[in-house]
Amino acid sequence: MYKVTIGLEVHVELNTKSKMFSPSVNSYDKNINTNISVIDFAFPGTLPTVNKAAVNKAISLAVALNTEISSYLMFDRKNYYYPDLPKGFQITQMTKPLGKNGYLEILDENGSKKVFIHQIHIEEDSASLDHKDNYSVINYNRVGVPLVEIVTEPCIESVDEAINFLETLRNVIRYLNISDADQTKGQIRCDVNVSLRKEDSDELGVRAEVKNVNSFQSVREAINYEIERQTECLNNGIEIKRETRRYSPDTGKTYSMREKADAVDYKYYVEPNIPKIDIEPSLVENIKSNMITLPVERMKKYINEYGLSYREAKNLIREKEISDLFNKTIDLGSNPKEASNWITMKLTEYLNKNALEFNEISITAEMLNELITLINNKTISNEQAKKVFEVMIGESKMPNVIIKELGMEQVTNEEEIRKFVNEILDDNIDAVNTYKSGKINIVGFLMGQVLKASGGKINPGLANKILNIEIQKR
Ligand code: ADP
Ligand code: MG
Repeated sequence: MYKVTIGLEVHVELNTKSKMFSPSVNSYDKNINTNISVIDFAFPGTLPTVNKAAVNKAISLAVALNTEISSYLMFDRKNYYYPDLPKGFQITQMTKPLGKNGYLEILDENGSKKVFIHQIHIEEDSASLDHKDNYSVINYNRVGVPLVEIVTEPCIESVDEAINFLETLRNVIRYLNISDADQTKGQIRCDVNVSLRKEDSDELGVRAEVKNVNSFQSVREAINYEIERQTECLNNGIEIKRETRRYSPDTGKTYSMREKADAVDYKYYVEPNIPKIDIEPSLVENIKSNMITLPVERMKKYINEYGLSYREAKNLIREKEISDLFNKTIDLGSNPKEASNWITMKLTEYLNKNALEFNEISITAEMLNELITLINNKTISNEQAKKVFEVMIGESKMPNVIIKELGMEQVTNEEEIRKFVNEILDDNIDAVNTYKSGKINIVGFLMGQVLKASGGKINPGLANKILNIEIQKR
């Protein structure tokens, strides 16, 4: 048996208004080949300028990943020719990455693990190429879009751990609002490095690097395929080559592109058109002190302080807005387990049933807290609460308003219930006599009459108690 080692290089597009080094609009979904400028093509006489918003966003991720942040920004030029790179070079950070030596904590059912981050750096995206049968089309709108690249240490030990890391990273990125990190739009893509080694060996095996894998599902398949392929090689005494491979979603397999061993010489040199820029410590401090509570911290609180399960906690943090709703509902006084049940079960059901996303509905912590309070003080039954919940989300109204409108308010006043119960007993003298003759089960029938006559408005628990007292007096 072999142990697997995985290292990931993740590219994330930042959601700035303009590009990394030019004022052109950072958007490439509509009107192809329109969001471009002479700077994106490095026309003679043009100079790049560094996008401050992109740098701030990158720093916030560098902070969230617990990296040591460089005291200055500098860029390098990576030279190569390819149609998706009209300048003939990419501006990146090779010598002095923005951040290094960090970690991201990930959680699973059994506990937690730190995935070590080798570095995070800033660069620019290339154009997007779409390969047809015997030709390719190109969209330059993506040229120069701000990217951060996050490089992990080779410390990931299973395919599940790799996916967990990617999901956790994506959540952090979304919480920081620096990218939607939507896989289907190519906003988060990764290179997957996989190697195997003998179980008793400390030395890492020779790795294959699978380039540009576009979805988490593809990452899973690419890793599984590499484990299978490399296991077979090793079992048959075939040496594993250090190579770059590509993944095909059509076959679920990887294919050799080129043997690596520094095959490509990018002739890096310091980007001459951008001076060194200091990163003021006060800027980093400011970003640190304004940092929101990140999803993993929230999950830990939900599990350790509120006693929720790992599954529930993970469900609650799946979107920042959902986690915020939960937190605020607790702050208003709701019981965490009850609030969690409504959000992870009823709300999820509602969204699935109506094919809606959370951001398409309006539910507030005030609404949810009021609903929970109304159930707990027995103003409405659990059954009624389900109905109120639907109307509450559908019409965005407070539960108190809804139960008045629907005439749902339960009678909880004991005097009123006693009067009502006695009226029913008066109308059912035969049943009362049956009871007195010793057939006390008849009380169930009477209870049914009470509930029926009240149209479900009387609190059943109270009614039952009072009925049993009143019938004794007969
Ligand atoms: P390169 O410069 O060729 O891209 P790096 O040393 O920067 O190589 O590593 C790139 C990625 O490969 C990192 O994510 C790292 O964790 C991963 N990696 C390095 N060695 C191995 C290995 N033996 N097995 C699996 N992943 C590895
Ligand atoms: Mg690399």
